[in-house]
Amino acid sequence: MKRLLPLLLAWALLCGCGADQPASSQGPAAGDTQYFFAMDTLMSITAYDGDTAAALVAAQQEINRLEALWSRTRPESDVSRLNAHAGDGTAVPIQPETAGLLETAAAAARESGLAFDPVLAPVMDAWGFGLTESEATAVHRVPGQEELSALLPLTRDLPQAAALEDGSYAAALPLAGQAVDLGGIAKGASAAYVVQALTAHGVENAILSLGGNITALGSRPDGQPFRVLVTDPLDSEESYLCTIALGGGLTCSTSGGYERYFTSGGAAYHHIIDPATGYPAQSGLLSVTTVAAGPALADAWSTALFVLGLDRALELWRAGEGTVAGMELILVTEDQRIYVTQGLEEGLQLHGEEAGYTYEIVRR
Ligand code: AMP
Ligand code: MG
Repeated sequence: MKRLLPLLLAWALLCGCGADQPASSQGPAAGDTQYFFAMDTLMSITAYDGDTAAALVAAQQEINRLEALWSRTRPESDVSRLNAHAGDGTAVPIQPETAGLLETAAAAARESGLAFDPVLAPVMDAWGFGLTESEATAVHRVPGQEELSALLPLTRDLPQAAALEDGSYAAALPLAGQAVDLGGIAKGASAAYVVQALTAHGVENAILSLGGNITALGSRPDGQPFRVLVTDPLDSEESYLCTIALGGGLTCSTSGGYERYFTSGGAAYHHIIDPATGYPAQSGLLSVTTVAAGPALADAWSTALFVLGLDRALELWRAGEGTVAGMELILVTEDQRIYVTQGLEEGLQLHGEEAGYTYEIVRR
């Protein structure tokens, strides 16, 4: 429940149920909203037009279908079957959606120099992250250096996926003991399928919140862009840092150590692991928000940039080419500096100054 409150609060404001409520809030203008649990998080979808009832049912079915393919805890999922055959030479049949996701994940892995690593599961398990269906029943522990050193060689070789002659797909993991964990990209990737399901039912304006990933289709009923709250990582239950405008199918994805962590011996250990060390990433960042046209990439890169840190993130953003150069970013440092790239300046509202944050707009 702890993690639900900020989501619900954010949702209230985001959807115009609170301070941002449009003048007419009755009927379709207020949108139809579906809340549900999937992929171990609270999700919500609000559709403002089209056949909203059918659209929301179809959207939730899509999420359930994808969770059944990508879950690491359901034995029949594509991912579990792939993991079960790691290193034994079996080409495991997978659905096209899984092949597509593995390909996107591998591309992010290569481009980020393996800061985004889709085969971190053995290390995640050593920390007790992601072993169970529910984080509430997870058993966390701090693994020893030797244990981690033995696991790290399993986290470098990406899965090999291939299209077969009959049009189906198969994949294999090269090394015994390897395992795929798509937790850093699967929720974002799902958004693309949800959008398809919504538009198939005539929905042109909608907002989806899939566990840290928010996708805005079209605009709010009053014609304004949606407004998304960016959580204050130092007070994630109560406060937010800023509001950004979002619309036109863009996705905003946030990764932060505050989202999932445990404490042991007075130290906090969070769930975003630096694949170079096997330890929770300590890049000097508290959170990273990416805004991008591709929801899977927004998700993968918020995780990757959290690992890479401020300087590397801005370097990639300033580069003339590459995936990050086409995104907008909000980077929050441990010393409470917030860097917002110039494309987010319009519609930006700041809220974190009282809490001691300073802001800088980053320009090219
Ligand atoms: P996110 O909230 O999107 O940043 O995803 C965090 C989740 O991604 C974790 O709970 C793990 O399942 C997984 N993960 C952790 N570290 C990494 C990493 N360096 N690369 C890819 N996935 C990761
Ligand atoms: Mg992510």
